[in-house]
Amino acid sequence: MSRDTTLLHPEVQAIIPKFLDECKKQGLIVKVTDTVRTKQEQNDLYAQGRTKPGNIVTWAEYPYSNHNWGMAFDICRNDGKGAYNDSDGWFKKVGQVGKIFGLEWGGDWKGTPDKPHFELTKYGDTNTLAKKYGTPENFKKTWKEVESYMFVERNYSYNGKVKSFKVINENGENYIKLRDAAELLNMKIAYDNNTKITTLDDTLITVSVEVGNKKSTVKAINSGGFNFVKVRDIADFLGFETGYNETSNSVFFKLKNTIIEKLKIFKK
Ligand SMILES: [Zn+2]
Repeated sequence: MSRDTTLLHPEVQAIIPKFLDECKKQGLIVKVTDTVRTKQEQNDLYAQGRTKPGNIVTWAEYPYSNHNWGMAFDICRNDGKGAYNDSDGWFKKVGQVGKIFGLEWGGDWKGTPDKPHFELTKYGDTNTLAKKYGTPENFKKTWKEVESYMFVERNYSYNGKVKSFKVINENGENYIKLRDAAELLNMKIAYDNNTKITTLDDTLITVSVEVGNKKSTVKAINSGGFNFVKVRDIADFLGFETGYNETSNSVFFKLKNTIIEKLKIFKK
């Protein structure tokens, strides 16, 4: 039987250190004794007290223990007062801590309570898992997705409106759902099945501008029948640089260097 917590489902792995920490804060010194059980181990354990000597310790045949699915672990006390000494209600206290982290405590089971046992049942009981995935090996193939992304809750604001979204944090960068970004920025989102292109439409429209043989499209706001384009865009299109002049409190236009160079050459 394994004590290796890294064999457990990534979400259970993530819970264990927090759970042990909180127990410690409450003066409960806990040791993990048992994590994942293989088919052989589960069936050997099931034989104990039935076809083999010893006391009955499990009610589950493979794969009907959450230990087979990497969703369960067992603990004992590690404070020198006896590994399974429960004269002071120690296990129930630990059980309460487990519940803070979303774990189910075996001590709550009616009929056959299992005080050292904890499991995460958010993916269903073993019957559900067996029906859905067939074998623990198949279930494990789904683990990577959960493991490779860290979801964090972040607040974003736009025009004074603050919204909270779950984003993926990857290498220090936050990735937001396109749909959420559209909602925040008051944009319409559309997906074209044929082109596989997602488009974001805001109140801005796209207009074509043309000077000489130079063509471009820029974003514009239509108001009262007139298209208002960004000063920066139109200046850029026409070959100007813009800047802000504090003394005259104005935005200035300046020909770009490349164009000035051309003019100099022309003068020669
Ligand atoms: Zn157990």
